[in-house]
Amino acid sequence: MLKNLKYLKSIDYDPTSLILEKIRVAQELYEHWSDYFFKDEKFIDLLKRYEEAVLKSNKTMEKLGTFNECYICSVLEKKGCCKAGLENEVTINILLINMFLGVQIPKEREVPLRCFFVGPTGCKIFARPFLCRDYFCRRLLDKLGEKGYILVTQVLNEELTLLYEICSYIKKELEFLLGDFLIELDLTGYA
Ligand code: SF4
Ligand code: SF4
Repeated sequence: MLKNLKYLKSIDYDPTSLILEKIRVAQELYEHWSDYFFKDEKFIDLLKRYEEAVLKSNKTMEKLGTFNECYICSVLEKKGCCKAGLENEVTINILLINMFLGVQIPKEREVPLRCFFVGPTGCKIFARPFLCRDYFCRRLLDKLGEKGYILVTQVLNEELTLLYEICSYIKKELEFLLGDFLIELDLTGYA
């Protein structure tokens, strides 16, 4: 499948190669088209609503103690589920959203055998993939209980719907600007 793609080039068997290539494409698109997007009121409104939804989900998870549980699990106990390879869930679209929100994209894997985006205290990007946001292991489910889980699912539903909307919007605009079908923008790397 990768052979047919136009924007992603030179992917090799190095497990970090695909995410580095996605970052390169996202940076190139950002440099060329960020001014265009920043002038688009509909896009800015969508971006703001998405940012607010992420902050709301984060606040809810913070209150319910899931962030702390993940910190104990991954940083203190050296377990955790953000393994190497999961960075491929981060699409070019998600990288672009982080760039639009002023997030610094890492240049290299900081923690060996962990996801490319793991830092000393957890994930370093703000806009995160569907899988990362909507994953609750047994330990977290026990921590949340039924009521907590329902609450988290509700706020995440808002966030992930907006993530889908903003990704579709960016893709539609870039396809119009470049006159091309950009399947690469949503590629995770497992297909
Ligand atoms: S989701 Fe579960 S396995 Fe992953 S870091 Fe949190 S507590 Fe650990
Ligand atoms: S939450 Fe962040 S660090 Fe963890 S797998 Fe997802 S992108 Fe990687």
